[in-house]
Amino acid sequence: MAIPSDNNRSEPADPSSPVSLPSSSHVHDVLVVGAGPAGSACAYWLAEAGWDVVVIEKKVFPRDKTCGDGLTPRSVRQLEDMGLGGILAGAHRYEGLRAVAFGRSLDLKWPEHPSFPPYGYVITRHDLDQAVADHALKAGANVLQDVEAVEPLPAHPEDSAGSVGPSRRAGADVLRPCGGALVRARGSDHLAELRARYVVVADGANSRFGRALGTSRDRSRPMGMALRGYFLSPRHDDPFIESHLDVRDHAGRVVPGYGWIFPLGDGRVNVGVGLLSVEDRWKGINTSRLMDAFIERAPGSWGLSAATACGSPTGGKLPMGLAVGPRTGPNTLAVGDAAGSINPFNGEGIAYGYETGRLAAACLGRALSGEGEAALGDYEVRLQDAYGLYYKIGRAFVSLITHPELMRACVRTGMHSQSIMEWLLRIMANLLRPDELGPAEAAYKALVAIARVTPEP
Ligand SMILES: Cc1cc2nc3c(=O)[nH]c(=O)nc-3n(C[C@H](O)[C@H](O)[C@H](O)COP(=O)(O)OP(=O)(O)OC[C@H]3O[C@@H](n4cnc5c(N)ncnc54)[C@H](O)[C@@H]3O)c2cc1C
Repeated sequence: MAIPSDNNRSEPADPSSPVSLPSSSHVHDVLVVGAGPAGSACAYWLAEAGWDVVVIEKKVFPRDKTCGDGLTPRSVRQLEDMGLGGILAGAHRYEGLRAVAFGRSLDLKWPEHPSFPPYGYVITRHDLDQAVADHALKAGANVLQDVEAVEPLPAHPEDSAGSVGPSRRAGADVLRPCGGALVRARGSDHLAELRARYVVVADGANSRFGRALGTSRDRSRPMGMALRGYFLSPRHDDPFIESHLDVRDHAGRVVPGYGWIFPLGDGRVNVGVGLLSVEDRWKGINTSRLMDAFIERAPGSWGLSAATACGSPTGGKLPMGLAVGPRTGPNTLAVGDAAGSINPFNGEGIAYGYETGRLAAACLGRALSGEGEAALGDYEVRLQDAYGLYYKIGRAFVSLITHPELMRACVRTGMHSQSIMEWLLRIMANLLRPDELGPAEAAYKALVAIARVTPEP
């Protein structure tokens, strides 16, 4: 068994080297707030296209980020498109998902697909996020670490595309215009101005900067809460990631969510529990107790115990199904978790961070090339094209499984059929084939037809 590298701690910042900020008189084409998957991907695609982009990140890479560390084929595709396939060479590659529930276990391989590879990886966010931010830097983005956006700057009329229409400005369903950010760099009490024509909000699930520009979460839409920790395990290089679909609370009730064991291939596994909630249902559940119960019940072969735990678990929120909005403004866009872009079917957010960052970069490129505000409005259209109906079905799925009896009945039935679970995996991982109408695609088509005519509460 390999000895795990102690790579989950952020390096302490060197206080002797103050971060130097660009001159406050310079107006960048784009300012990106946050260098997680969404912000770094957006910055990479903008820099690659030759735009003057500055990204600010309040932490110092490599930094830890609470996550399951699982990359599905959708994430792998985005990394390969950015020319980053090479960084995955040393990471743990896996073939599919093992679904475990009610005493049964099914190994479900990732499907063959014309656009996505039939494999995924497990890699710590400590290593992954640094690599993508470095890549954006190499492409020409100015990546400023240890610099926090404290608050948005008011828009300066001559800085923006010059087409900020009064109707959109007045509308409550758009982000406020913004001229950049008031920032604070490490080693300084001084607040400085960082100015830009366009601003991308990529500051993650808590999104303080996004809220200052007018975003809020639609509380009727699903939200995830998850907790994860690392453990030493003899099965650290298992070829499947494992999902347990019958996670129980202290009273023995099956809860809406799942427990996971994702092998990292370096001696450790990433173990966690995620819980879904809609409105106030399931709010009272203590995720730490859920995690303890999950570890106790997990198959002994994984070797999970207090003795093999590498530190205490940490948790975070998962805003899903485009629950956060508005996502566009006259010169502002929100991407990734700041836009609530996590897939409600499976809690996957890295791929959607990369994808929404890329979509935003494409629209910003058009805006900067002369189309102005209209190109930014197109970002919402493209989001709806890519995820609108799929996420609507996902939200209905979440509402369904938050009823314990239904959840139990669905999982029990599914676990008796390898093919039903293979179709479900395709639907839930958003890996349906556009070029074939197999059973999974046919089932999904029927769901789309229903979703189109069903109003949401
Ligand atoms: C427990 C857990 C497990 C998960 N497991 C998985 C998984 O296995 N696979 C998967 O695909 N997804 C998973 N997710 C979801 C995934 O982590 C997120 O969807 C993803 O990180 C979103 O990327 P992002 O760039 O939008 O935000 P983030 O990754 O949160 O990045 C935001 C960045 O902005 C920075 N920042 C914030 N505020 C400021 C500011 N004011 N100024 C400057 N910088 C700022 C932060 O430091 C951070 O680096 C999990 C989430 C949780 C909580």
